[in-house]
Amino acid sequence: MFRKYDSLIFEKSTPGRTAYQLPKLDVEEKELKDLVPSEFLASEAPKLPEVNEVDIVRHYTNLSNKNFGVDTGFYPLGSCTMKYNPKINEEMASLPGFAALHPYQEEYQVQGALELMYNLLEILEEIAGMDAGTLQPAAGAQGELAGVLLIRAYHESRGDFKRNKIIIPDSAHGTNPATAAVAGYTPVEIPSDENGLVDLDALRAVVGEDTAGLMLTNPNTLGLFDQHIKEITDIIHEAGGLCYYDGANANAIMGHAKPGKMGFDVMHYNIHKTLSTPHGGGGPGSGPIVCKEFLAPFLPVPVVEKDGDKFTLNYDKPQSYGHMKDFYGHFGIIVRAYTYCLTMGSDGLELASDYAVLNANYLAARLKGEYNMAVNTTVKHEVILAGLKDHEKLGVTTNDVAKGLIDRGIHPPTVYFPLIVDEALMIEPTETESLETLDEFVDAMLDIARVAKEDPESLKNAPLTTDISRPDETAAARTPIVKAEW
Ligand SMILES: *Cc1c(COP(=O)(O)O)cnc(C)c1O
Repeated sequence: MFRKYDSLIFEKSTPGRTAYQLPKLDVEEKELKDLVPSEFLASEAPKLPEVNEVDIVRHYTNLSNKNFGVDTGFYPLGSCTMKYNPKINEEMASLPGFAALHPYQEEYQVQGALELMYNLLEILEEIAGMDAGTLQPAAGAQGELAGVLLIRAYHESRGDFKRNKIIIPDSAHGTNPATAAVAGYTPVEIPSDENGLVDLDALRAVVGEDTAGLMLTNPNTLGLFDQHIKEITDIIHEAGGLCYYDGANANAIMGHAKPGKMGFDVMHYNIHKTLSTPHGGGGPGSGPIVCKEFLAPFLPVPVVEKDGDKFTLNYDKPQSYGHMKDFYGHFGIIVRAYTYCLTMGSDGLELASDYAVLNANYLAARLKGEYNMAVNTTVKHEVILAGLKDHEKLGVTTNDVAKGLIDRGIHPPTVYFPLIVDEALMIEPTETESLETLDEFVDAMLDIARVAKEDPESLKNAPLTTDISRPDETAAARTPIVKAEW
């Protein structure tokens, strides 16, 4: 049944209706006022909905069905790596020995948890070709901040206070310039060349004594691995700066290439992307950073260390810049990521990257007849379209294509990002989707292309299958009404 709007739980309320039955009172009944001092008593009863059990169950079940997630359908949101989250991860994270831990427990009681953290960090260091790190950051963006603060601490430890700029290519993720600014630096944007890669001349022109470092998203937001990567890090190092690797796109390179070997000094992971832990809806995520040995003294405390066969939390790091987050990071997510690494093994992680890249290029090959491509080469883990062919003549925008996908049961890919591509539609299928699912997506995209030619106006009204069709998106995001007056 299709309903435009579901009533609120308050609107379902009928006085006197309840969802519970209590046993008969077997003690003397007392008035509330005889039990609770009058100054603590409210003058009127709270306005709570009065409903029976079946209505309340239906209410919340119906609400939950309005959610879209990787467990309900294809979710090819570019840059977000919405891969499937294996259920064994959940099982491990819910083991009482992990789930019921308290952060103030004594070290000797939490040896297993510390060992797991120590081991996961070692795996992350190995994948990246780095030497040390921390699991503390709560998400990718906080990992970026944790990493740039390391760069800052390094320069300052050498008495070098003149470096106030961080160089960031225009193909970077938007969090990179935001991070540089939050860390107190001036972000300096450099353009991409005609192939969508870092323009080396433009880079050489801006480096200097004021360069604190570079932040590089690689593969970049066009899905491209920068072929000049070693030259880029050399140029920055020669100027005395350090190199930050935005590793949110690690799903494209795991097991194939190590940022540490490309000359990077520090990087973050989004383990809620690359290592299959759930994300969306605001978290919790996890954005560990890993770095070269010379940056290790500045890492946030506490550091998990191994002493013989004992694990300890070391707070005694005089050069550390402090805490990044209370306690040790999002431990439940860390357990899930560790489970994923052990289930996949190193061969499995490498294979995941292979398939992520293959799937993206398969979509590109099947869609390029009807859609413009942002670049005309093979890509890594995501493919960026630049609108329908002839979209200007047809009057059908990428927004209309995205809305049309909703009516076809598919979560739209990222739209209008990266900013350097007109009419961008950024598709990241991930490795966990089958050929059949990819083909269903292609069918939907080609069907939209057909409708765009035959009846373009109909796409302007999409989606027709949702409660709300086309809200004012700015107002919906900035001034949402999330409280009913009652
Ligand atoms: C997702 C993403 C980030 C930010 O990570 P969050 O966990 O969302 O804070 C940074 N860079 C890139 C390339 C990303 O895709």
